[in-house]
Amino acid sequence: MHKRRGCGLPFPLVCDSDVMQLSISVEEEPMICQGLVYNVSPYMEYHPGGEDELMRAAGSDGTDLFDQVHRWVNYESMLKECLVGRMAVKPVAVAKENHEKKPLNGILLKSKLPDLPAKEISPSYDWFQTESLVTIVIYTKQKDVDSESVIVDYQDGCFRAEIVINDYSYLLHTELSHEIQEDITARVAEKTGKVEIILKKKDNVSWKYLGHPLENHNSFTAHREKGLYYRKCKLVSKVDVTHDTKLYCLMLPPDTHLQVPIGQHVYLKLTVAGAEIVKPYTPVLESLHSDLQEPLHPHNKYIYVIIKIYHTGLFTPHFDCLQIGDYVSVSSPEGNFKKSQLQDLEELFLLAAGTGFTPMVKILNYALTNTTSLRKVKLMFFNKTEEDILWKNQLEHLADKDRRFEVEFILSEPTCEWTGKQGRISLPLLSKFVKRSLENSRVLICICGPAPFTEQGIRLLKDLNFSQEEVHSFTA
Ligand code: FAD
Ligand code: NAD
Repeated sequence: MHKRRGCGLPFPLVCDSDVMQLSISVEEEPMICQGLVYNVSPYMEYHPGGEDELMRAAGSDGTDLFDQVHRWVNYESMLKECLVGRMAVKPVAVAKENHEKKPLNGILLKSKLPDLPAKEISPSYDWFQTESLVTIVIYTKQKDVDSESVIVDYQDGCFRAEIVINDYSYLLHTELSHEIQEDITARVAEKTGKVEIILKKKDNVSWKYLGHPLENHNSFTAHREKGLYYRKCKLVSKVDVTHDTKLYCLMLPPDTHLQVPIGQHVYLKLTVAGAEIVKPYTPVLESLHSDLQEPLHPHNKYIYVIIKIYHTGLFTPHFDCLQIGDYVSVSSPEGNFKKSQLQDLEELFLLAAGTGFTPMVKILNYALTNTTSLRKVKLMFFNKTEEDILWKNQLEHLADKDRRFEVEFILSEPTCEWTGKQGRISLPLLSKFVKRSLENSRVLICICGPAPFTEQGIRLLKDLNFSQEEVHSFTA
C-alpha cells in the first residue's frame, strides 16, 4: 500500500475571480500545472501510474513533468473537478529530478531510438479508467497516423495494439489484468497522432494495473522485425467471378480493428495435413460499382479477396474447400505502396495481368474518388481469354460512367470472335497506351502480374523514358 504524503503549498493562491489566499489541508495533495492549482487526491486511484507517480508532482509545479509524460492529455478537462485556484505568484524553483530514461508506467522516456533517424521520436502510452471503461492512449507524435495505421487485437485475454509508422511500428502487447467485453473502440486524432483505444470492463472493478507485459511490449522497432501476426477470420461468403476465380469475404474477429491499406497485401494461412501453408493475397473492394460504395459490410470488419484456384496448386484448392463458417488465419498487412503516391497525380496508368488486377481495384477507386488533380486513369488489362477477365462488366460500366476512366483488354489466347487487342505486353502496345497527354504531367504507372510480365513491363517503361519514381511494381 502506498502511504499518502501530505504537503502544503509554499506560496499563496488566488481563486479564479476572488483574490484570496487558500489553505490546503495536509490530507490534500496540491499540484500545479500551467499556473493552475489542483487538489489531486480524489484522482489518486484513477492515475494510471499510481499514487507514486502522481506524488512526484504533488506540492510543486508539475508543469515540466506533466509535459514530459502527458503533453497530449487534456488535463484541464480531466482534472476540472479538482481545480482549487490559480497561482498568484511564480513558484519558487523546485529542484528537478533527472527523469530521463526512467520508465514511467510503461512509458519509455527515452526520446530517440538509436536505429531511427534523429527526427523520429519514440511513441509512448498511458492508460486511465472510469468505473466501466479503460482507455489506453498512445502518443505517436506523428502527423501521418490514421485509422489504417492502427491494428488492434484481443484474443484469449491478450491485448495487442500495433501502430504502424512508415517502416516502423509501436507495439503494446499485454495480458490484461481483467476481462473485457467484446467491444473495443479505437480512435485516432490525426493532427496530433494520438490514438485512443477504449476497452469496456466486464465487471466494474478498479484495475490496479493494465496487464502483464508480453513479447515486444512497449517496443518501437522496424515493422518487419516483429514478424507477422495472425488472427482467425471466418469465411462468410464465396461468389464466382469467373470459371476459376472467386470473391471471398472474410470476417475479422469482433475485437480486431484492421483496415488493409491501398496497395498492400495480407498472408492467408491454412494448416493442411499438419503443415502450415501461407500465401499472399491483395484485398479488394466488394465491388467497383459506385452505387455500392456505401459498403454492405463496413471496411474494418470484413476483408474481400479475389482468388484464382489452381487445381494443382499448394494452397488454393484447400482454401476453396473451406465451407461458409470455416476459419482461415489472416496476417496483418504488408507492402510498400503509399497512398501519398496518388497525391497530386494528373495521369494514372494501370498495367495488370490476370489476378495482378487485385491491387488495382483499391488504387482505381481511391484515385477516382480522392485525387482531385486526376485527369485520366487508363487500365490495360492482359488476360489469356475473354472468360478470364475479372469484373469485365463492372469495368465497362465504370468507363461509361466516369469519363476520366478508360479500359482496354488484351488477350494472349483469344478465340476467333475476339475483335479487341491481342498479344502480350510489348513496346508497340505500351508506347501507344502509356503516353503523357502533356509534356510535364505528373504520372504514375502501376504494374502487376506474373513475374515475367512485370519484369518486362518495367524494362519497356524504362525504354519509354519513364523514371523509377513514376513506376510502381507489385511483387512479393
Ligand atoms: P502454387 O502451388 O503456387 O501453384 C500455382 C500454379 O503454378 C499451379 O498451376 C501449379 O501447378 C504451377 N506450378 C507450381 N510450381 C510449378 C513449377 N515448379 N513449374 C511449373 N508450374 C508450377 N493471387 C490471387 O489469386 N489473388 C490475389 O489477390 C493475389 N495477391 C498476391 C499478392 C502478392 C504480393 C503475391 C506475391 C501474390 C499474390 N497472388 C494472388 C498469388 C498467390 O499468392 C499464389 O501464388 C497463388 O494463389 C497460387 O497459390 P497456390 O499455392 O495455390 O499455387
Ligand atoms: P495468367 O497465367 O492467366 O496470365 C495472364 C496474362 O499475363 C497473360 O494473358 C499474359 O498476357 C501475361 N503473361 C503471362 N505470362 C507471361 C510471360 N511469361 N511474359 C509476359 N506476359 C505474360 O495469370 P494468372 O494465373 O492470373 O497469374 C497472375 C500472377 O500475378 C500470379 O503470378 C500472381 O502471383 C501475380 N500477382 C501478384 C500480385 C502482387 O501484388 N505481387 C498480386 C496478384 C497477383
